[in-house]
Amino acid sequence: MKKNLLLNTVLCFVSLLLSCKNDVPQKLSFEAMNTFMTIQSYGINAEKANAEAKNAILHLENKISVNEKESDIYRINNASVFPQKIDEDTSFLIDFSIRIAESSNGALNPALYPVTKAWGFTTGKYEVPSQSQIDDLLKLTDYKKIHLENNSIILCEGMEIDLGAIGKGYAGDKAIAVLKKNGITSALLDLGGNIQLIGSKPDGRDWIVGLKNPFGGEIVAAVKVSDCAVITSGGYERYFQTEDGKSYIHIFDSKTGYPVDNNVASCTIITKKGVYGDALSTTLFVLGKEGAVQFWKKNPDFDFIMILDDNSILYTENLSPKISLLQSFKSVEIIK
Ligand code: ADP
Ligand code: MG
Repeated sequence: MKKNLLLNTVLCFVSLLLSCKNDVPQKLSFEAMNTFMTIQSYGINAEKANAEAKNAILHLENKISVNEKESDIYRINNASVFPQKIDEDTSFLIDFSIRIAESSNGALNPALYPVTKAWGFTTGKYEVPSQSQIDDLLKLTDYKKIHLENNSIILCEGMEIDLGAIGKGYAGDKAIAVLKKNGITSALLDLGGNIQLIGSKPDGRDWIVGLKNPFGGEIVAAVKVSDCAVITSGGYERYFQTEDGKSYIHIFDSKTGYPVDNNVASCTIITKKGVYGDALSTTLFVLGKEGAVQFWKKNPDFDFIMILDDNSILYTENLSPKISLLQSFKSVEIIK
């Protein structure tokens, strides 16, 4: 009898400990892919799972970074002999971005790097290139000339690839796969403003994800969601200013070779997969309001929220029950 009581007490204590551990998040913050990342997971295995997820992100970064000399991307961008063998992940990402390029009429262009590099994004040596330099470089950005087959690639002379528009979203997908393999059923990943979620909060309720004010300051809207990616591209994230006060953002119009200047302040995509969300956040930003709406009507397998420079907002109708607007907007348009 006494033994049973003792056993029960020990079991209660252990299950109390376990349930506490399930409700308290394990957080891991680190720098990767040129940004600050935090993985917050729940469950008894969370600490180990987070460490493995971080490694998965760093491992991917080492394959696709444009600056890391050992990466696949650096190697093919600087190779003089082709074909070059590349890793499966690199190959998947190049193929994926080519497919989005095809469906967006080149708004997303994985071969735009000669142009973005000349503007100093990714190297930090910011400058406005001359029109003739831009014209020459644009000739090297035809993604249709990328030849990719069986993890082997051929690029024409001078062509260079950049997966910066989709890499973070894919890194999130990789991290999520690792967390799930470790039994994690509830987690929030903040990868430099890209939010990716496993399941719902530990108490079973939806996560509440805030959308930053693209003009600075408070959160301007929030969405209640679970098990998805909420990925934002914003001109406010990375830009430089010249002495005359003009600013140039890091998202480019692939037709003109100039930073996009189309009244879009931010574009948030809500999708199941991070890589798709990241690809589309950049694509719809480049397409602008009308182009984004048209693209969504043809491919309605995601949701989006767009804030324009005049402080108006538009979002797809599926988000109506999930979104809260936390300030007044000039206009609110629901896309059907
Ligand atoms: P962030 O990664 O800063 O959150 P994005 O996902 O929108 O923002 O990606 C922006 C990055 O994508 C740029 O830094 C650049 O490397 C690359 N990029 C910019 N414009 C384009 C474009 N039109 N097509 C493909 N890649 C682009
Ligand atoms: Mg993107």
